[in-house]
Amino acid sequence: MDKKPNNLNNQRPSHLDAPQGAQRAQSKPYKQYGERASQPATQRSARSAAGAAGSASRQGGAVRRSPGRTMTTSTGRSVSRGAAIRAQKQAVNDANRVANQYLDAATKQTDQPRRANVIDDSPRLKIIGLGGMDSGGSKNMMVIEYQNDAIVIDCGNDLGVDLPGINYGISDTTYLDQIKNKLRGFVMTHGHLDHIGGLPHILPKYNVPVYGSRFTIGRVEEIFQNFGLPMPDGFQLQTVIMNETTHERLKLGQFYIELVRVTHSIPGSTMVVVDTPIGRLINTGDFRLDPNPLDHERTDISRIEELAKEGVLLLMSESTTTERLGRTPSESTIEKSFIDIMDRAPGRIFVGLFSTNMNRVQMIVNAAVHHGKKVAMDGRSMISTVEMAVRNGYMKIPKGTFVSIASAPTLKDDQIVVVCTGSQGEPNSALQRMSLGDHKHVALKEQDSVILSSTPIPYSGNDALIRSMVDELLKKGVHVHRHETYELDHGGPLHVSGHGSIEEYRDIIKLIRPKFFLPIYGDFTAKKYHNDIALEEGLPRANMLNVENGQVITLTKDKMLLDGEVPHGTILVDQTGAVVSTVVVKDRVLLAEEGVVAVVLTIDKKTGALLTSPDIISRGFIYMKENEELMNAFRTELRRAVTQRFKRVDLDRFKAELRDYVTHFLFEQTQRSPIVIPVVNVIGGRSEKANNDTHKADANGQQQPKTPEEIALEQQRRFAQMRQRLLNQDARVD
Ligand SMILES: [Zn+2]
Repeated sequence: MDKKPNNLNNQRPSHLDAPQGAQRAQSKPYKQYGERASQPATQRSARSAAGAAGSASRQGGAVRRSPGRTMTTSTGRSVSRGAAIRAQKQAVNDANRVANQYLDAATKQTDQPRRANVIDDSPRLKIIGLGGMDSGGSKNMMVIEYQNDAIVIDCGNDLGVDLPGINYGISDTTYLDQIKNKLRGFVMTHGHLDHIGGLPHILPKYNVPVYGSRFTIGRVEEIFQNFGLPMPDGFQLQTVIMNETTHERLKLGQFYIELVRVTHSIPGSTMVVVDTPIGRLINTGDFRLDPNPLDHERTDISRIEELAKEGVLLLMSESTTTERLGRTPSESTIEKSFIDIMDRAPGRIFVGLFSTNMNRVQMIVNAAVHHGKKVAMDGRSMISTVEMAVRNGYMKIPKGTFVSIASAPTLKDDQIVVVCTGSQGEPNSALQRMSLGDHKHVALKEQDSVILSSTPIPYSGNDALIRSMVDELLKKGVHVHRHETYELDHGGPLHVSGHGSIEEYRDIIKLIRPKFFLPIYGDFTAKKYHNDIALEEGLPRANMLNVENGQVITLTKDKMLLDGEVPHGTILVDQTGAVVSTVVVKDRVLLAEEGVVAVVLTIDKKTGALLTSPDIISRGFIYMKENEELMNAFRTELRRAVTQRFKRVDLDRFKAELRDYVTHFLFEQTQRSPIVIPVVNVIGGRSEKANNDTHKADANGQQQPKTPEEIALEQQRRFAQMRQRLLNQDARVD
């Protein structure tokens, strides 16, 4: 990974298999914005809406325009002012719609704010998903609350947010503020970022311990160490390692918690068992039921059976791949494919995979050692996690196996395997840079082999990134092995998912036989299919729910009901780890879509005449040098507008009119609605009330005339202030 302070930036989580490593573009791939199918549809609609409004107004102009509100320009075309304003409103609405997918709780104005920390002695549990109940299970976060105790299970981030300048989203924790005094701890199911990535932002506010397996806590410490921003004074990360093998139980308030080992695509993955005064809850975390995982750390079925025998009130089961038929193949089914490639590969071998998939790294190391090859690693996130895994005994690397990536070129081609990040084609990842011939130590050449040991993260837009990287690799004459085409390439499978398929979700329900069932960590559709599985297994429909973020579930021994909602939402975070306001994001979306035009006028107060030619500054709108004719017409129109209106209305009104006028003109000419910022500099005279201070008081309170220099200075200062005001205000609605 790069030198950037915040390693979160580079890690793309994933709801599906092992996200992290997949380094998201160093700078969030802003170019993706606009490439992805989802958002662009919305954005394009902004343009087409504007276009539609334009054509409608042209056709219907004669019918719909009100008299005196239409202007005809030098080109002879006319359009109603209303159409132009409507088009701009439409552009704003579309920008809002894009940004409104991610509002914080205050902006959402969730009703009925709940009072915090009041004595609550009702014998019922409250269960709330503050995150994880939408968009494919991201920023996962469940609150479990009983009387005056509460714990939080998981605290992830959402790297799927595709807004300009935004790196990821985290859950809005306004509700946790309200129950702050009840919080006893955060319990993590496993170390993927969509389960722990929100901690550096959220945990310092509450300063309670984080509980998890040894590997998970290692990951938590890793992300705190690599977090770019300083922690608040007085905050100390407190972690508690729980042994998932010995069924250690800890008391947190009135709850007892226990971790149970499951197989997933990162070591140390666990279910979280919470024994409460009214019954037992189980949160599965992410899991699959691999009968033969490489590390032999199978899901602890016998412990699950014991827990089930004692009775489980509520099963909360993850819902990532509840639409995938059958069973997920065992990790062991792909081992042979790597050995085969190593047997046959004529040159060097490069393997791209998710940075936290330690079992996969171990598998490749084993195969390399078997073939007498050395292993080099590239990608800072992966190296950091491997170091942590080795330190904690999760990996066994024979001495002398690892060599530095810098020394890779000095080894013979048949002696080196490079394990690296970039299997998702992420910009600036190790593999992507190699594909572009842009890597510091490695120049790929014919006969090298590249293995992509992952599949594109669904809904991530990564398919296209991978495709163009593969193009570049093939152009270089490199042998490329992809999971999707392994049969065509005459090899074996190269990837298995870290999540189960339908039969495994079913097995867990059958094993645990809960009284109530709550699908979690998935969108509505995935959770619906999960409920269907539970129905097939005989659970009554009344004993299951499909809830959204923020909805409150109340649970007693014999009832599970919905009871309103608490504040919830998304907080957006940029590359530096700083929070970004939705208002800023909306402007960015609008700017990205339509651009900005500033008009700077210097006007003589007395005569109302323009003192200089109007300055027009355009960014992201049109290239002015190629549109000289339009710009000249625009200046002419501006002069006319100033002559007609400046003397007749006050300055604020004039600026508002000017903005509408410019919006109208530009829309009429270009069918676009850029953000328009009018800047009016009035020179001479006492143009505004505040200008009355052109006299200064002397020691006796007597007015003295100011010198021309002082007046000029004063005017300059006022102009600067006015400009600042303009820049500070919301350009869309001022
Ligand atoms: Zn996971």
